[in-house]
Amino acid sequence: MSNTVNTTLLIIGGGPGGYVAAIRAGQLGIPTVLVEGAALGGTCLNIGCIPSKALIHVAEQFHALQGHAADAALGIRVQAPELDLARSIAWKDGIVKRLTGGVAALLKKHKVTVVRGWARIVDGKTVDVDPLTRGQSGAPQRILCEHLLLATGSEPVALPFMPFGGTVISSTEALAPQSLPESLAVVGAGYIGLELGTVYRKLGVRVEVIEAQDRILPAYDADLVKPVHSALKSLGVGLHLQTQVLGLAEDGQGLRIQPPRSAERVLPAQQILVAVGRRPRSRGFGLSTLMLDMDGLAVRVDDRCHTSMSGVWAIGDLTGEPMLAHRAMAQGVCVAEQIAGQTRRFVPAAIPAVCFTDPEVVTAGLSPQQAAQAGIDAIEGVFPLAANGRAMTLDSPEGFVRVVARRDNHLILGWQATGRGISECAAAFGQSLELNACLEDVAHTIHAHPTQGEAIQEAALRALGEALHV
Ligand code: FAD
Ligand code: NAD
Repeated sequence: MSNTVNTTLLIIGGGPGGYVAAIRAGQLGIPTVLVEGAALGGTCLNIGCIPSKALIHVAEQFHALQGHAADAALGIRVQAPELDLARSIAWKDGIVKRLTGGVAALLKKHKVTVVRGWARIVDGKTVDVDPLTRGQSGAPQRILCEHLLLATGSEPVALPFMPFGGTVISSTEALAPQSLPESLAVVGAGYIGLELGTVYRKLGVRVEVIEAQDRILPAYDADLVKPVHSALKSLGVGLHLQTQVLGLAEDGQGLRIQPPRSAERVLPAQQILVAVGRRPRSRGFGLSTLMLDMDGLAVRVDDRCHTSMSGVWAIGDLTGEPMLAHRAMAQGVCVAEQIAGQTRRFVPAAIPAVCFTDPEVVTAGLSPQQAAQAGIDAIEGVFPLAANGRAMTLDSPEGFVRVVARRDNHLILGWQATGRGISECAAAFGQSLELNACLEDVAHTIHAHPTQGEAIQEAALRALGEALHV
């Protein structure tokens, strides 16, 4: 082929895994080509983390103003706030544009060659890129590499009997509404269902959530989820647990559901958001030709993020759970540094997870149940935000911080917390685990007053039997 390019590192996918790997590789002087078929920034920046958090902020502000209009509890009186949806969406899109533009600039700064188009794997060292538009010269560009990094991410799972289209939408459409429906049925009470279900409810839409398991956010422990469950109820979100979705109603304006121990019925809904998980994007671009070891649709990697084929690496959602942007980024850095000759392993002490519901939920490391399952004799300390001055002054005293530690040497094993704005504590949780802190390290650290962070210190003190404010 005449238009063949040679490089040391070829990355397929410009999401947080791929673009961060490219930036780090560029910093380390590795000749790098990044191929992206849709938009730099991937799911996270374009149709995931960032747009969802922007809309969560819009919904929170609107809802808070409506609260003031209703009862003026803080002494603020507001009259009938109105939503200009088009402007809210434009604001969200502006943030996405700034961030994705920033990624393009960083890649350029670090001399990464960005090729726009869809990659097709020929073999472990050869990739063809199809031109993005019909107008381009037509022939694919061939890229030859020493190292191939797969970072193609994930895509939403559809229900086989209710494919996406028409009134059935995925998170992508839910993040870019032109108008709001009167009612929304959300299938799946996981991260996406609850984050976006809360957004729509706070913007005035009637929301019903249908979950197959017996509780919302089934991945988290029951105590953590309780405050979120109560808050959703107070917000007027309908929760249908242990309920099966059977299909669309005949007129397409609702869902046929089967609640436990009762008859099938129709739940009216103008739109249906299906959020039952995401699956690794491992099909349709020649990955199977490499015959890699797989775990279902996920590419199996070792603790270096190396696949079963020499010179082929994989990171991010393509490698399965937990599908989180910060995990993908950390894996990307790990791979780039190894290609530069450094000895690296991807063995995090904990990958924090945050669900941006209201209240938020944060976990890092082991829960008390997980510690018990692992046969570890553990103690825990729980500090309620109702006893934290900052939480009170933020008018958000619901929730708690919990620490789990070994009984014998007080090594911290995990943190769990729920509360409004508590996601900002995730960094402290992650650091204490990575630094192998014990309860005394956290308990004897001076925490600024008044902050929600004091609840971290108090949880550690409580586990030691020395809590000061409960
Ligand atoms: P992706 O971000 O999916 O990027 C993969 C890229 O590869 C895409 O741009 C795609 O176009 C490209 N690609 C695929 N195949 C090819 C090909 N053949 N050729 C060229 N390019 C290709 N995570 C968090 O940590 N925090 C959050 O708050 C959060 N919120 C989320 C909210 C929503 C609504 C969703 C959907 C996800 C959210 N996530 C969140 C998850 C997060 O977005 C993903 O974990 C993260 O984007 C994974 O990064 P990645 O690089 O592995 O893949
Ligand atoms: P999820 O795994 O978080 O939740 C899916 C939910 O759907 C589960 O509770 C499951 O029991 C339920 N479910 C599955 N099949 C069902 C059915 N047929 N009927 C009713 N309920 C059903 O998946 P998600 O919410 O789609 O999110 C996908 C991934 O995206 C997450 O795993 C996460 O990694 C990532 N994400 C992260 C964040 C964050 O970090 N804040 C936010 C959004 C998405």
